[in-house]
Amino acid sequence: MPSVYIKTYGCQMNERDSEAVAAQLVAKGYSLAPSETVADVILLNTCSVRDLAEQKALRKMENLAAEIRRDRPEVVLGFMGCMAQSRGQELIDRLPDVDLVLGTQKFHRAADCLDEIIAGRRDKIVDVAEEPGSEATIREHLLNGNAQKSVTAYVSIMQGCNQYCTFCIVPYTRGEERSRTIPDIVSECRQLVAQGVKEITLLGQIVTSYGRRRFGRAEPPLGQDAQQRVPAQGKSPFVQLLDAVHEIEGLERIRFTAPHPKGYGDDLIEAYALLPKLVESAHLPVQSGSNRVLKLMHRGYTREQYLVLIEKLRRARPEIGISTDIIVGFPGETEDDFEQTLSLAREVEFDQAYIFKYSQRRDTPAADLPEQVPQKIREERNQRLLEVINEIAAVKYKKFVGRRTQILVEGPSRKNPARMTGRTRCNKIVVFDFAEREHRGRLMDVKITRASSFTLYGDPVIPD
Ligand code: SF4
Repeated sequence: MPSVYIKTYGCQMNERDSEAVAAQLVAKGYSLAPSETVADVILLNTCSVRDLAEQKALRKMENLAAEIRRDRPEVVLGFMGCMAQSRGQELIDRLPDVDLVLGTQKFHRAADCLDEIIAGRRDKIVDVAEEPGSEATIREHLLNGNAQKSVTAYVSIMQGCNQYCTFCIVPYTRGEERSRTIPDIVSECRQLVAQGVKEITLLGQIVTSYGRRRFGRAEPPLGQDAQQRVPAQGKSPFVQLLDAVHEIEGLERIRFTAPHPKGYGDDLIEAYALLPKLVESAHLPVQSGSNRVLKLMHRGYTREQYLVLIEKLRRARPEIGISTDIIVGFPGETEDDFEQTLSLAREVEFDQAYIFKYSQRRDTPAADLPEQVPQKIREERNQRLLEVINEIAAVKYKKFVGRRTQILVEGPSRKNPARMTGRTRCNKIVVFDFAEREHRGRLMDVKITRASSFTLYGDPVIPD
C-alpha cells in the first residue's frame, strides 16, 4: 500500500483533523512516511486565517510539484482544509499538478478519493460541498503511532462558528456550527481513556457554543432554590457535556479550547467550582481592551463584561491560569484604543497572551474597513504589548519557585530528550531532570526550582 505524508499548517483543530485523516488512512493499509521525499501521497492541510499561511502552502505545493513530481511523476499531491475549502477548483486551475482538493467537511473521504486517483479511475477530485453529519467523522486517533500523544488527546466536539467576527475567515471556511452528540463524544473519550489517555482537551472553533442550536439547555431541577448553585435556566449543552465527560473513570484532567468569552455563563463558572477534573486553566480570547474596537470586531462583549468574567473565574478557582489572544493594529485602532488594551492586560495579569499583528484577510469584512493601521505602527504596538505581557508573566512564573505543584508527565522534552516535561493543572510547562520513562502519563508532584519565560523547572518530589 502507498505511504502518506501530511503537512499541517495553522491551529490545533487542523492538527487534530490531520491526525484523524492519518489514522483513517492507516486503518485502510497506508503507512505513514517519515518525510515528503519518500511519500507516495503528500497532503497539505491548509490554514486560511492569515494570507501568509495561504501563501506558504501555495509555495510549498509549487516546490513539491517542481522537485518531487519531476523525479516521481506518480506521487499524488493534495490540498485539504480551510484554503482547500475557500479556493476549491481555483487551486487546480492555478497548480495543475494538484490531484486532490478536499474541503473541511470532507476529511473522512480522503481514503476513498485517494483510492480513486491511485487506481486511475479519476484524474482530479475537488470535493468541497457541505456534508451534514461530517462533524461526527473526526474521531480516529493515532495513539499507537505516536507515543508522545498517548497521555493527552484532543477530541473534536464541534465544527464551524456562527459568531462572524469581522477579522475571521473561519465561519466561511468551516461553515455553520455543527455539534456531535454527547454520547458519541463520551464514547470516544472512554476509548481513549481505556488506551491510557489521562487528559482530554475538548476541541472546536467555539466550544462554548457547543450544541446550543441542536440540543438546547437542560431542564432545571425541580425544587431548585438559590442555594443549589444550579442556574435557573438549566445547564447549557456544553456544561452538560463537561458533566458527562467528567464521569469517565480513569480520566484525570479535562481542558477545552477555544471558548468565547460570551459563552461563559454562570453554569460554566459553576462547573469550574464543581468539577475537580476540569483544570484551573482558561483561554479567553479578548482581542482588544477597547469597547469601540470590540464592536468593530463584532465580538459580542464589552471590556467591562470581560473583566467581570475574569473576576468570577478567579473567585471560583483562585489558582486559575488565564491566557488570551490579542490583535493589535485592527483597522481604526487609535493610540487611545491601544492604551486601553495595554491597561486591560495590566489589570487582568494574563499568564500568557498570544499577540497577533492584524493582517488584512481577503473575504473578511474587516479587510474593507477604512483606516487600516500602517504596518510600522502595528509592529510598534506589538512590541509594546509584548513587553507588558512578558513583564507580568515573569512575575507570575517566579511566584511558582519554591512551590510544590502537581504535573501530568507528558514525555521527553522536545528541546532536550534527556529531560522530561509535564504540565501543571493551570497549563504551565514544567521541565525536570529525572523520571523513569514509565512515569509518562502519571500525575506527579514536583518542586519548582527555577522559572524562565513561560517554562518552569523543577525536581520530582519523592514520597516519604
Ligand atoms: S468566535 Fe473565533 S472562530 Fe468564530 S468568528 Fe470569532 S474568532 Fe473566528
